[in-house]
Amino acid sequence: MGKRQEIEISTAEAKRQMDIISQLAHHIQGKNLKFCITTFGCQMNAHDSEKIQGMLSKMGYSETDKEAEADLILYNTCCVRENAENRIYGKLGYLKKLKRANPNLLIALCGCMMQQDIVLETLKKTYRHVDMIFGTYNIYKLPELLQTRFETGKPVIDIWDSHQDIVEDLPNERKYPFKSCVNIMYGCNNFCTYCIVPYVRGRERSRNPEDILKEIHALVEDGVKEIMLLGQNVNSYGKTLDIPMTFADLIREVNKIEGLERLRFMTSHPKDLSDDLILAMSECDKLCNSLHLPFQAGSTDVLTRMNRRYTKEQYLALVSKVKATMPHIALTTDIIIGFPGETEEDFQETMDVVRQVRFASAFTFVYSKRTGTPAATMDNQIEEVVSKDRFNRLLDLVHEIQVDYMESFIGHHTDVLLEEVSKHDPNLLSGRTSESVLVHVKADPSEIGKIVDIKITGAKTHYLIGECL
Ligand code: SF4
Repeated sequence: MGKRQEIEISTAEAKRQMDIISQLAHHIQGKNLKFCITTFGCQMNAHDSEKIQGMLSKMGYSETDKEAEADLILYNTCCVRENAENRIYGKLGYLKKLKRANPNLLIALCGCMMQQDIVLETLKKTYRHVDMIFGTYNIYKLPELLQTRFETGKPVIDIWDSHQDIVEDLPNERKYPFKSCVNIMYGCNNFCTYCIVPYVRGRERSRNPEDILKEIHALVEDGVKEIMLLGQNVNSYGKTLDIPMTFADLIREVNKIEGLERLRFMTSHPKDLSDDLILAMSECDKLCNSLHLPFQAGSTDVLTRMNRRYTKEQYLALVSKVKATMPHIALTTDIIIGFPGETEEDFQETMDVVRQVRFASAFTFVYSKRTGTPAATMDNQIEEVVSKDRFNRLLDLVHEIQVDYMESFIGHHTDVLLEEVSKHDPNLLSGRTSESVLVHVKADPSEIGKIVDIKITGAKTHYLIGECL
């Protein structure tokens, strides 16, 4: 299908859904209906939930965080870890009681977990009180699915096993008025052997740069200062476009947008981080001083079994290049401990990478078997007691390095985007530095949404303490 035809279909589809939203708004008017969304998993899911919230608000629903008060309860699910799935089944059991007390309550499920046949079969057989089930490819069809549910009174199940069009211009409800995520691509082609994402989010496809830039322009006009570009592997952005464009060129274009103050992106696969991207990062003044570069394991043997397609040496060489160009960049990473077949020597290679790179922070995980992935059937699954012991040793090292990193801020000034009243102390505001480090500072709530100059006076493992100047 040609690009022009795709754009026409996408626009027509968005218009169709918007028309249904207007019809539903008429139906819902005056009924004081409420929705409650719970989001599991990654930032892609969080951003999808913002789109769902946007559509429901346009229909006239208001939001509540109490399930007992809601007329529509929606779980946006994740299937990266099997125990997250078990939690959903547990919650559905509890919702049965709520539904008995309020027969008008609608229960909807969407997200990655729904893309698995086995889950769908279980839901159909055992959880018949669920009203709507849809997947990762057709979130934009929520208005139509809801309308069908209202009209027929019967459960609606709509799961696609591949994408059709990327539908643009649907409403979106931002959590913060001053910062927003923007999807630049969907899906992943990498098939890391522990990961279910390519099976449930499909192959890689990029949004057109014109649509991305148009969305960011509109967000900036609406008061957004900070944008996070989102994709499973942003470094391979643009390869599937009719006129290919690199991610480096995309960020150069975004950087030109007047009024935008901060730009971030995630996630970067090390194998696709090009020299041109490193150059673009150093040129673009709005790009924040941080890079999330998951290395997952230090041993090249383990990396091969993970199908990561880089060696330990290549990863370290890449980090050296990044640091040579941007010496003060905050590098963060993801690490998996206890992948099948990991020996103590392999684990020591992971510790060695952590010592050499000195990450500003690291997300550390104990490997957990994910049914449906190649790693789940590999020999030599590691005993939990061994993984836990390695995990604790890794955590000690990561924290020791992180404390040094946090202390290096003390006495310095830094720009902080003040985001909200602290969850732990109502007298403090919390914000983020360009390095994405959390800062607590005494300031008036009227300062929320501003980027202010803060002097750092103290440091803990996970946050800094500062003073407004
Ligand atoms: S790059 Fe690997 S870990 Fe990341 S989403 Fe793709 S398959 Fe999963």
